[in-house]
Amino acid sequence: MKGKFNLSAYEAFSHKTDVAMASHSTIGCGGNARTVFYPQSVAETKALLCKLEGDKIPYYVVGNMSNLLPPDDGTEIPLICTANLNGVTVGEGAFVYAGAKSGALLSICKRNQKSGAEFLNGIPCTLGGALFMNAGAGGAYIDEIVESVLVYRKGETKLVPRKDCGYSYKHSVFMDDGSVILGAALRLTDSTDEEIAGRESFFKARRAHLPKGKSMGCVFKNPEGYSAGDLIERSGLKGLRIGGAVVSGEHANFIINDKNATAKDIKTLITLIQNAVSAQYGIRLEEEIRYIPL
Ligand SMILES: Cc1cc2nc3c(=O)[nH]c(=O)nc-3n(C[C@H](O)[C@H](O)[C@H](O)COP(=O)(O)OP(=O)(O)OC[C@H]3O[C@@H](n4cnc5c(N)ncnc54)[C@H](O)[C@@H]3O)c2cc1C
Repeated sequence: MKGKFNLSAYEAFSHKTDVAMASHSTIGCGGNARTVFYPQSVAETKALLCKLEGDKIPYYVVGNMSNLLPPDDGTEIPLICTANLNGVTVGEGAFVYAGAKSGALLSICKRNQKSGAEFLNGIPCTLGGALFMNAGAGGAYIDEIVESVLVYRKGETKLVPRKDCGYSYKHSVFMDDGSVILGAALRLTDSTDEEIAGRESFFKARRAHLPKGKSMGCVFKNPEGYSAGDLIERSGLKGLRIGGAVVSGEHANFIINDKNATAKDIKTLITLIQNAVSAQYGIRLEEEIRYIPL
């Protein structure tokens, strides 16, 4: 049963009210989030989540909001933003907190001559979002460098070893069990400046063709044996427009917020694409992007 969220019982937790999701999401649309919490530590996150769960209040965790479509009418559900859980330690071992950005991890890796995470170069994300989505590029995925993930689950924090993270293509067990990712131990290798620079330019070059503009990255997962972008392009959908949302002419798996698109424009375009590809190829495209609930 859902409880009723009453902010006055949560004043002690770091938060903001009426936060414009359009300014924080990479797609640049959506209404206001009534309450966004910004816990400053793992202990504060745990205390907040325990209280919300005790009060039976549903919540939604956000990182960089790069793979999210926020609703036009905003959301009453409290958002938990990991921005302040952003520590990174790279030495003998490496530990990243969920809110650390990919760029912060990469510059610390460089300083310490550690290799393995270069594929994250240019992926706009927090490590929590990347670990949740099993983000990857150029044939490399984050699960390949995970040793263990620190999560909050049902009142407890625990370290989940990689073998229990249920990683597969664009999937993690955390999507199924409601865990909140707090951080992770990563497996990085000793390297040289030259090797790191070489790997970095390899992954950078592979991103050079990606469309500019406001987007969520790839909208659909690649169905087994196919490229979602190819299926969309071969269905003649490049350039298809609904309101301010348009199928990119450069990469058909990207929807660009070109002219003040609403979430409704984007959702309508997503459904049109799914129907067209299904009619032409009998393949149902499944969204990679996720939706912030109302
Ligand atoms: C221009 C562009 C290029 C992109 N290129 C790539 C690419 O090459 N490869 C790729 O894989 N992706 C790519 N993406 C998509 C996106 O960057 C990734 O999915 C990234 O992992 C999302 O991280 P985030 O912090 O923004 O997560 P968000 O978008 O904030 O959240 C995504 C999901 O993760 C959940 N989540 C976030 N943090 C936590 C946490 N701490 N605990 C539990 N759940 C959490 C959220 O609830 C949500 O369901 C791209 C996006 C853009 C805009």
